[in-house]
Amino acid sequence: MVVIEIDPEAGFCFGVEQVIKTAETCLEGGQELYGLGEMVHNSEEVQRLHALGLKTIDHHDLVSLKPERILLRAHGEPPSTYKLAETHRIEVIDGTCPIVSRLQKKVKEAYDSMDHDIEQLVIFGKADHPETIGLLGQVGGDAVVVSSYKDITKVDPSKKVYLFSQTTMDPDRFEEVERALKDHLEGSAESSFRSDCTICSQMKKRKPGLASFVVKYDLILFVSGKNSSNGKMLYEFCKSINPQTYWISRGSEVDPEWLSCVGTIGISGATSTSISQLESVSKHVKKLTAT
Ligand code: SF4
Repeated sequence: MVVIEIDPEAGFCFGVEQVIKTAETCLEGGQELYGLGEMVHNSEEVQRLHALGLKTIDHHDLVSLKPERILLRAHGEPPSTYKLAETHRIEVIDGTCPIVSRLQKKVKEAYDSMDHDIEQLVIFGKADHPETIGLLGQVGGDAVVVSSYKDITKVDPSKKVYLFSQTTMDPDRFEEVERALKDHLEGSAESSFRSDCTICSQMKKRKPGLASFVVKYDLILFVSGKNSSNGKMLYEFCKSINPQTYWISRGSEVDPEWLSCVGTIGISGATSTSISQLESVSKHVKKLTAT
């Protein structure tokens, strides 16, 4: 019999779990609820929320639709979104993860206390990621965004640097950026380099946890939305340790061929993948291996 186990450390991160519970509670009364942007980078979960009544809209729809109330996702929003909602008298239900809210505040305080002639703010993140857009909004867009050490040339080497990170980035890549920045900066800018690794502790724990989980199985099924940057990074990490790792977003994507000659299967997922999705994949794989 094939052994199939779910990673005990997998499941939604705190911020995603909280915003999904908020959406469910708001929808219980049958009232209309609009979510600004995809609530989670996970199409299965988004479809489930849509079935409960949530309508996903983008920033342009705020002006054209003027919904009565909107739910903001865990990644947070720039101040301009709150202003727009206020202008159009739209009620805001703020699902921003408290860890992201604290980071937004920190980034703003750091920026406000800087001498901008000689100092600059650098954010390690994805320029088009909603969280980084929210962080940039705190400082009027006046920060350099680097997504890897290769972007370091965008940073002025003569100015002092204060480095922060999007919460969902890879801690190992953050260290690469730190090292590259130290090499890149000149004179007093190098000696006064400041860095705050604001990657979420849930993210920091994931890689060591996955490293010990994936070595125990013949095959790993990693479940996440294909548009989840966190999912892509964690999948690649699992595959680097256990080459028999497959990235799927639902059980139906499992090719029965993968399961032949396999005695143990481990199932894990990103911070935007629910335990119920992992259980559903597990059920599906149990059926495939039973035949
Ligand atoms: S990864 Fe961390 S900071 Fe980001 S939403 Fe989840 S709990 Fe919040």
